[in-house]
Amino acid sequence: MNLHEYQSKEILANYGVNIQRGFLANDVQEAKDAAGKLKEMTGNDGWVVKAQVHAGGRGKGGGVKFSPTMEKLEENANNIIGMQLVTPQTSAEGKKVHSVLIAEDVYYPGESETKEFYVSILLDRAQGKNTVVYSTEGGMDIEQVAEETPHLIHKETIDPALGLQPFQARKIAFNLGLSGAAQKDFVKFITSLYNAYIGIDASLFEINPVLKTSDDRIIAVDAKVTLDGNSLYRHKDLAELRDKREEDPMDVEAGEAGLNFVKLDGNVACMVNGAGLAMATMDMIKLSGGNPANFLDVGGTADAARVKTAFDIILRDPNVEAILINIFGGIVRCDRVAQGIVDAYKEIGEFPVPLIVRLQGTNAEEAKKLIDEAGLPIHSVITLEEAANKVKEVVA
Ligand code: GDP
Ligand code: MN
Repeated sequence: MNLHEYQSKEILANYGVNIQRGFLANDVQEAKDAAGKLKEMTGNDGWVVKAQVHAGGRGKGGGVKFSPTMEKLEENANNIIGMQLVTPQTSAEGKKVHSVLIAEDVYYPGESETKEFYVSILLDRAQGKNTVVYSTEGGMDIEQVAEETPHLIHKETIDPALGLQPFQARKIAFNLGLSGAAQKDFVKFITSLYNAYIGIDASLFEINPVLKTSDDRIIAVDAKVTLDGNSLYRHKDLAELRDKREEDPMDVEAGEAGLNFVKLDGNVACMVNGAGLAMATMDMIKLSGGNPANFLDVGGTADAARVKTAFDIILRDPNVEAILINIFGGIVRCDRVAQGIVDAYKEIGEFPVPLIVRLQGTNAEEAKKLIDEAGLPIHSVITLEEAANKVKEVVA
């Protein structure tokens, strides 16, 4: 589950990580109020208006604007709130901006130069260990750095039994070229950051840029946090931070119905129980000359309501030319699934595409009988081979 920048920063701050401070604003008035509050805190004019959407590269798309005066702030907030933000990480149509973060300006001039670094923490699945990835070349072009000068990107692997060790924190600070007060502040920064990562069961932290200010403080200017969905049951407060507006409405609907759904761009939709069988079914569709229109695992209970929701979602896709249901009745009985299919079919009425149903396992014979006797134009088959042949026939 992804979080917004403002949510991510709030969590980091709770763990003692220094952040660029700011307030969320849903409209221009709130933006001006936020700027006023920040001025009371910092004593300075100068703010950044930052679009809150689940996509990186906002700066490049015009979703992050420095605003030196209150007039500029008003203008930028007015332009950004409600805009359709297109960045290198969104689709061509972009993402609607519902709110902005009004943040303090931290690039103020001073004794030393400001410097932008890249820091992320993630699970290295090959090693089974968390890893800190970092670079002196932070800022908006980290993808280019990774491609053209990969030697400038460093990794530090963390032993799960020991956590991030002080010598590792110092080594990272050293490799980033930090010394003196900035080095000390960075050690504190990265230590708190790692504690936060472990504390909230995150699967990714990406802080780009981490800024060394002109007075040698280290702060998170941007923050992208991805939580491990499997851990949300023990972080009820964090689960509430989910913003469904940022997700594909079809995915949200499927998730709420207990369906594991991934949209693909083929012509044969499938409805299967179990992820493994779903993968195998997609292979079979492909071998039969079709292309899977989706991955759909209906899970353990393929009752009428769930089957109906699955049909609703599948049939919304104009590319679908046929639907293949492939259910293995182990704990779930085939005849109950068949009844669910028949009920859902009747509720929907006229089916625009052929429906092939293969039910195998407990009470498969009864299931086939039930479907055949319902008098609906459903192709009921028992073996996978028959199913494959039927798919071949309808997509030919
Ligand atoms: P992203 O483009 O989605 O990664 O958004 P970021 O939060 O990383 O911001 C993009 C860029 O905006 C940063 O790399 C900075 O160059 C700039 N920026 C962010 N905060 C400030 C600020 O306080 N003052 C100024 N002048 N620029 C800022
Ligand atoms: Mn960034």
